[in-house]
Amino acid sequence: MIPFNRPCWVGNEAELIAEAFAGQSIAGDGPFGKKTQALLEKQLGVKKALLTTSCTHALEMAAILLNLQPGDEVIVPSYGFVTTALAFFMHGAKPVFADIRPDTLNIDETKLAPLINNRTRAIVLIHYAGVGCEMDTIMEMAERHNLVIIEDNAHGLYGKYKGKYLGTFGALATQSFHETKNITCGEGGALLINEPSYIERAEIIREKGTNRSLFFRGEVDKYTWIDKGSSYVMSDILAAFLYAQMTQKDEIQSKRKMIWEHYDQYLKDWATKNDVHLPTIAECCESAYHAFYLLMPSLNARTHFINYLKENGINAVFHYLPLHKSEMGCKLGGEQYHCPVTEDMSDRLVRLPFFNDISKKELTAVTEAIQKYIV
Ligand SMILES: *Cc1c(COP(=O)(O)O)cnc(C)c1O
Repeated sequence: MIPFNRPCWVGNEAELIAEAFAGQSIAGDGPFGKKTQALLEKQLGVKKALLTTSCTHALEMAAILLNLQPGDEVIVPSYGFVTTALAFFMHGAKPVFADIRPDTLNIDETKLAPLINNRTRAIVLIHYAGVGCEMDTIMEMAERHNLVIIEDNAHGLYGKYKGKYLGTFGALATQSFHETKNITCGEGGALLINEPSYIERAEIIREKGTNRSLFFRGEVDKYTWIDKGSSYVMSDILAAFLYAQMTQKDEIQSKRKMIWEHYDQYLKDWATKNDVHLPTIAECCESAYHAFYLLMPSLNARTHFINYLKENGINAVFHYLPLHKSEMGCKLGGEQYHCPVTEDMSDRLVRLPFFNDISKKELTAVTEAIQKYIV
């Protein structure tokens, strides 16, 4: 069976973990945590990167930083990961569900205006599959309405929009290092802070609501309870693992580009003949090559296609289910939102196996099986 995802090692993860043990400091913000944060800041050019236990937790930190008041609204794409909306709901926001563009499957900036009112505080974006949202329009809109932009950049690490790294546009951005992402440590994440006024409070929220970070830096002589927060710091064992992966990012990204281009090249003609659509990368974007997907002509066609691939030893998957129509989404009044593109794409999208060490043989097996299939 060719899996949809297989975790891939760069090779020296175990060695660096052993080094973390030898240093006898494996709690958070140890030597590897500091090195990894500094590396991420340098690679992307962000003011502050804070490693967290997950992207979900980084999103929760962003939500807490917004100081949401009852009635405040946060716009999220309905075509998104559950916690992209959940994190903001948990910390007091009413999620408002936006539809996506049919070409990139990113939030549709042309449909945002009617969703904005005087209770709107923030817009959360996902750079789907690693291709940037229309940041010029969105940033201009945020400025005009005084909204905070939060990039859920779980797919977009090292992708660019008009030459600028994704994750560096919003006041806040989040990364995931879950096993299924380009760079991983099993479970993990980061909060990127581009608006410096958030830094001090973010450090407090991440350290259980205390000013422990100031204490560790010797800026206060004891630490105490200051604010809301939780235990969001990543262990140094995981930071060591992550450091190994992050130092190999060029190699990882070039492997992923090759995988994406293989699929694109060998499926183009088949797709045209079978009324299937391949992903679009806008000209002003450099993809992070997080995923490769096909848009089948219908839900029925997708179901048959996924079954066919399974019978041929290939595990292809679909996602996301429209958040506004989920059980929780409905309880929050989701049915009032009109997201036809989300509903359509959610029925038709299928993701192909995509992981750093997928072999040429495996890739060829996938494309050959697909080429034999008539939709
Ligand atoms: C994976 C993912 C998340 C969640 O990441 P965790 O690190 O597992 O919390 C959030 N948003 C998007 C878009 C994702 O792809």
